[in-house]
Amino acid sequence: MEDIDPPREIAGSATRILHELSRLGLNSDQPVLYQSTRTGAYESAIDSLLKEGKAFWCGCSRKDQPPSGIYPGTCRDGLAAGKSPRAVRLHVSGSTIRFSDLIQGAVEENLEQSVGDFIIRRADGLPAYQLAVVVDDAFQGITEVVRGSDLLESTARQIHLQQALGLPTPAYVHHPLAISGDGSKLGKRFGSDPVARLPAAQAVCVALQFLGQKPPGGMELKELWAWAREHWRTESIPRVECMRSESCRLPYRL
Ligand SMILES: [Zn+2]
Repeated sequence: MEDIDPPREIAGSATRILHELSRLGLNSDQPVLYQSTRTGAYESAIDSLLKEGKAFWCGCSRKDQPPSGIYPGTCRDGLAAGKSPRAVRLHVSGSTIRFSDLIQGAVEENLEQSVGDFIIRRADGLPAYQLAVVVDDAFQGITEVVRGSDLLESTARQIHLQQALGLPTPAYVHHPLAISGDGSKLGKRFGSDPVARLPAAQAVCVALQFLGQKPPGGMELKELWAWAREHWRTESIPRVECMRSESCRLPYRL
């Protein structure tokens, strides 16, 4: 549960998310891990990367950043005169990260060209998202990461971090995102209909259809999950990053 970003976190949202997942028949088989309880693990990962010279302190502020957003390596060899340490960045090597996504296929990214040395500890002292998820995936023994395709662009950075920390790389599956007719993301902020408005069995059925599966209609929730476990076909998931609600013919307005 990603709850380490107090300015962005909405009170009670973790409980609401877990409650909604449970209503849909999804219950964790491990105790839920809250990032807010893991600060020590993140700090020790950052310390070891600094000690090994794989990370460095950066004194740049937002206005020092080039318009491209790609970090030019300003503080790689030490802070410039008059700068004080703000954030910690990870060295990216010139090498290209390659991985095979189970839906999206072969992906390759040269981090030096796409992002440059990236932040692993933010100027406000919080661990960056990339660092926290990599440390937690390894801690929980995660072997397959299944998530929306909007996180495809984070994967190369996470693999680079795993390699720097000597951690195993899990398999990655980035499924298509449902987007509204005008191409915008779905979410509370965008005024989308909440999943909670649908009866649980119908919501799960729509999600399965969206992912290219063909569940028979009229099933109860338990039956539907049993069907899904038996008939699931990853190769039926459309190999796209996004799908508009009309193109996947969902039976209700997204
Ligand atoms: Zn810098």
